[in-house]
Amino acid sequence: MTDCLFCKIVSGDVPAKIVRESAGTVAFRDINPQAPTHVLVIPRDHHPTVAELAASDAGLLAELVREAHQVAADEGIAETGYRVVFNTGAQAGQTVFHVHAHLLGGRGLNWPPG
Ligand code: IMP
Repeated sequence: MTDCLFCKIVSGDVPAKIVRESAGTVAFRDINPQAPTHVLVIPRDHHPTVAELAASDAGLLAELVREAHQVAADEGIAETGYRVVFNTGAQAGQTVFHVHAHLLGGRGLNWPPG
């Protein structure tokens, strides 16, 4: 998608602090971090939401979640705990409609979330 910010990160047209890549995914640091570790994991292919990704390519969704866990391990927070969040839809706070997993950790995380 030509006007999608995260597609431009995948193509390299928009710079990002990339921490990990796999065949189907790219992981990069959130520009406005909400925790000591705040990494976004996205598929290289454009899918607007996690629901649409689950419906069209469940294997890629599994790869995305595995990659999020691997980033958590690389960041040293796999044992202490971390959160993987897919904001889905505007009311849930989704602002970029290229599906992304927020990987958050490195501090205590409150529940319920705001
Ligand atoms: P959403 O609100 O769940 O859609 O999350 C979008 C996330 O993308 C937010 O946490 C933003 O801080 C982050 N973001 C927006 N633009 C960029 C960028 O250019 N690089 C890295 N993260 C970004």
